[in-house]
Amino acid sequence: MLPYHTLQEAEVALGRGLTLPQTIWFKYSANKPDFLLHCHNSLFLLFFYSIAPIPFLLMELGGNYKLNKHKIQPKVKRTFWEMFKCYKDVVHTFVIAVTPLQIISYPTIKWIGIRTGLSLPSGWELFWQILVYFVIEDYLGYWIHRMLHYKWAYQKIHKVHHEYSAPIGLSAPYAHWAEIIILGIPAFIGPVLVPGHITTYWLWFILRQIEAIETHSGYDFPWSCTKFIPFYGGAAFHDYHHYVGEKTQSNFASVFTYCDYIYGTHKGYQYIKQKGRENSTYTKKYKMK
Ligand SMILES: [Zn+2]
Ligand SMILES: [Zn+2]
Repeated sequence: MLPYHTLQEAEVALGRGLTLPQTIWFKYSANKPDFLLHCHNSLFLLFFYSIAPIPFLLMELGGNYKLNKHKIQPKVKRTFWEMFKCYKDVVHTFVIAVTPLQIISYPTIKWIGIRTGLSLPSGWELFWQILVYFVIEDYLGYWIHRMLHYKWAYQKIHKVHHEYSAPIGLSAPYAHWAEIIILGIPAFIGPVLVPGHITTYWLWFILRQIEAIETHSGYDFPWSCTKFIPFYGGAAFHDYHHYVGEKTQSNFASVFTYCDYIYGTHKGYQYIKQKGRENSTYTKKYKMK
């Protein structure tokens, strides 16, 4: 909640006129308690989870030849009802795990000083903070994911996420509630270490979720703009991890590839890629299954 009642009051206090984004932010947030602004995160996550996978869902159901040739595991077809069940299960986990986690984390968010005021982040601040959040989450997530592949953790927790050996966009957050909480922690660490504005905080979670949906989409488009991001894993990279399943020793990182290269957990994937190149496309291995 802002400490000003009117736009004029805010302008007098700041000693200058408000920019357009600041005016919009003032009108939106001036009378909303910080807790309510923090809880927006859950709504945004649910909203973007509900709309971002729709293009992939339509591609899967439409069966367009031109798009289908970019499908990583083309022999696996999902029906509408299979996808709807996935959505329903994820929303259930969302209600029992994500929302309580968001509420519980509020005192921490307050304590570290995520700001809600009129000093909105510049484009540069947004860029570098979100980049730092991605790198931190990716590194910690890599190790947690590796631990989730230990026998006990896999059987009790991570097995649920691997039910999809050919993932779809909707299955990105399809996981045991404990995994949602465990893997949610690295996503909070970035904002805790480098706190910013609440709009940066919202944007971070939205981008991370869209990235996970694209990574699980089951489609690898050569024209995707993510191909220009250095060390970006993408759909084919993570799809291979799902394809091999429990016994995989490859591709544990969630966003970038550098952890797998540094710690040597890229070799299985590298071998398949090499084999694929010899057979014109690396997806050939999947298609021959
Ligand atoms: Zn895994
Ligand atoms: Zn996955």
